[in-house]
Amino acid sequence: MTAAESITTVGLVHIYRSEGHDVAALSGVDLVVGAGEVIGLLGPSGSGKSTLLALLGGLFPPSAGKIFVGAHELSAMTPRELDAFQARESSLMLQGARRNLLPYLTGRGNVEFAQVRARRLGADPAPVDDVLDLVGAGEFADRPLAELAAGQLQLIALAVAMAPAPGVLLADEPSSALDHEAREHVLTALLRVNAHRGTTIVVVTHDPEVAGRLPRTVTIRDGRIGGEGRQGEEYAVVTADGFLPLPLHLRAELPPGTLVRLEKVGADYLLRPQGHPEE
Ligand code: ADP
Ligand code: MG
Repeated sequence: MTAAESITTVGLVHIYRSEGHDVAALSGVDLVVGAGEVIGLLGPSGSGKSTLLALLGGLFPPSAGKIFVGAHELSAMTPRELDAFQARESSLMLQGARRNLLPYLTGRGNVEFAQVRARRLGADPAPVDDVLDLVGAGEFADRPLAELAAGQLQLIALAVAMAPAPGVLLADEPSSALDHEAREHVLTALLRVNAHRGTTIVVVTHDPEVAGRLPRTVTIRDGRIGGEGRQGEEYAVVTADGFLPLPLHLRAELPPGTLVRLEKVGADYLLRPQGHPEE
């Protein structure tokens, strides 16, 4: 089993270059996830969540900026090192359970297949039954995938991702398109993986119910970190270069170009827009 790793991004920028026009999906993301932490990645559709997750998983290199997983910097790895990293240390669950599974194998077959590959690349996976039990997929692991419900497929995909016993698990919307009960099973399984294996988990979700159960959430807005939630409290986060994004609800009240003064009052800071009456 690989020890949990921390994740650090520094000034992460990603631009998709396509014919005619470029799309800036991420425009400077500084994020630190502690080893063994679980965070939820929130944000509207198109805000850059999947891009960020794919970069963290080393699926493709960022346009600019750096990603560290533990002491390793992803962009400094050789293709061979990156292969081994992906096989042993970091598992990426793509959105849509089936994209992570071989359709002609059972759940157990999928986990075994993942372990063979992981072992070949130097991982030391746990026994198949341990992984299936860990995520609560033991009961239906021997049935053909075609017979499984959406939530069960998602748990099998989670077992496959955990098969190499990685230190980092990246899951893209594992609970979207599921009913309440199935969502609960997936969330419980993720939290159990974290509790039992200490795996660092980054989970993309747009579900407030799921987000509310996570100790920390990071909201992505227009390719940047727009805010953080800690134990249910919302915070704005100062970026590495000293910018502070406005909370969404203040955007309408403080339109672009508004002059504001930031004043220190005792231990607090007062944000004073120009034109507001003095107290
Ligand atoms: P999210 O997962 O938050 O919905 P994405 O990371 O998928 O956001 O997308 C961020 C932005 O990048 C969007 O504007 C999206 O249209 C664009 N985008 C995503 N993938 C590609 C791609 N392969 N080529 C071009 N643009 C892309
Ligand atoms: Mg997405």
